[in-house]
Amino acid sequence: MPSYKKFLHIGLALDPIHVGAGGARLGRVELTIVRDPVTRVPKIPGSSLAGVYRTYVAMAEHERNPNRPVNHQDWPYYPHCAGLGQPRGEYKGHCARPDCPVCTVFGFARGKDQAGGFAGLAAFTDAHVLLFPVPTRQGPRWITSPDALRLVGLEVHGVDQDAVYLNSPQNNPMNLGWLLLPVTKCEQFEQIDNTLKKYKVPEYICNCLALVPDRLFSHIVNSNLEVRTSVAINPATGAAEEQALFSYEALPRGTVLAWEIITKNPGHFRIEGQVISAVSTPDQVHEKVKLAHPYLEHLGVGGMGTRGMGRLKVLFANQSPSTQDVNCSASSTSATGSPSGSPAPSAGGMTASSSGTEQGGAP
Ligand SMILES: [Zn+2]
Repeated sequence: MPSYKKFLHIGLALDPIHVGAGGARLGRVELTIVRDPVTRVPKIPGSSLAGVYRTYVAMAEHERNPNRPVNHQDWPYYPHCAGLGQPRGEYKGHCARPDCPVCTVFGFARGKDQAGGFAGLAAFTDAHVLLFPVPTRQGPRWITSPDALRLVGLEVHGVDQDAVYLNSPQNNPMNLGWLLLPVTKCEQFEQIDNTLKKYKVPEYICNCLALVPDRLFSHIVNSNLEVRTSVAINPATGAAEEQALFSYEALPRGTVLAWEIITKNPGHFRIEGQVISAVSTPDQVHEKVKLAHPYLEHLGVGGMGTRGMGRLKVLFANQSPSTQDVNCSASSTSATGSPSGSPAPSAGGMTASSSGTEQGGAP
């Protein structure tokens, strides 16, 4: 049995998603979202994903077995095995048992200095933008870039002009938001299309794809985020409070995200000398993790959940693909001739992590 397995997850934002950076920056928006420190493309940190997955798996297990006893006392999975784990008042903390599907899969904390804890059998990467919806005069287009497509195992070559690459040639330039770009044909566009269809990306999105170079991707994404403004209402007067206007940004509805979950072989680990009995293979760890998906679709991820934000529908959750080459330039026949020759293929794409704010627990 392998020591670990990697699973690719593709998700569609049913609402705008706001995973806050936990601080204000100078600019037009007060509450900003987490961004990749290098590309500046917004993302959902793996720590936020791990937190919501844990909560939702605990809810799912609780629904199956609400009166679970531990050492002859009631110790329900939810809320005790969800959350941060340090006992406080009524909250008992993580049960830390080798037969607990929540504590073994997501790990547990023990003691004030967290000594004796367990790291957990599932690891989460950040969720990156794979396809991003942008308004154009011809209706919405979902843009992507070579760096984004590397997440789904596509190594795209020849995207080196400041242009929009499409399946078919077109004489008129295309506006992506405020940016007007010439249109050029990508020779092997169909390969991208077919791969995304294999990952259950809906047809209405696959039919409206547009490929842009990495250097433009970040600009286009950042200038087409959803920005909302809210104001606090004074309950006594029913009027807006003075000085209580605030704005926040979010990934728009229709954004397609990709993340990986790596599951470890439970057989390699012991909890206080005992064999882990809740799960016994990397596939079984993934089966437990997947229990969170219906909750993710209805309860969502990130902040502003009561303001119509956060629902994320998982379209695909299966083994990560092998890498495939796609050549976009008509002139160059070999990938090595491309001036924007990308570095050695890496399965994870851009996975640089930033110091995003931890967002564990219930949304
Ligand atoms: Zn537990």
